Amino acid sequence: MRIGHGYDVHRLVPGRKLILGGVEIPHHLGLLGHSDADVAAHALMDALLGAAALGDIGQHFPDNDPAYAGSDSLVLLGKVMDLLAREGWRVENVDVTILAQKPKLMPHIPQMRQNFSRAMGLPVTAISVKATTEERLGFTGAEQGIAAHAVALIETLDR
Ligand code: MG
Repeated sequence: MRIGHGYDVHRLVPGRKLILGGVEIPHHLGLLGHSDADVAAHALMDALLGAAALGDIGQHFPDNDPAYAGSDSLVLLGKVMDLLAREGWRVENVDVTILAQKPKLMPHIPQMRQNFSRAMGLPVTAISVKATTEERLGFTGAEQGIAAHAVALIETLDR
């Protein structure tokens, strides 16, 4: 068994969609980034790659590569799962924590879990998504950005 951790931040700006865990969430601000800027999916991918010591998403999906402009991060998550499988790993469970002052994320969490479940080919019971504010402290508290942490447990496939 191996464990991995991922962390990501994206800036909140006007004129962008807010996509978290593959859910488009109605809000007056969205996340800035080369792809769809789904910070939750990015932290999750880095946790998976970290557990397998396979680098990070910046290395696999460079943000100066036009191929990934506006990318659906759930598609990239599927590619990360394929990479792990090729290297002989299966995923036991993952746990994602999103740090955001606004909007309220609770109503969207079941759909995020479903989206990750589908993208990863894992049961929804293996996927936890949580959200918290940081009590108006720091950049998430000031609504300047949204951060996400993730951990993943992986195991070698039975041979
Ligand atoms: Mg990112």
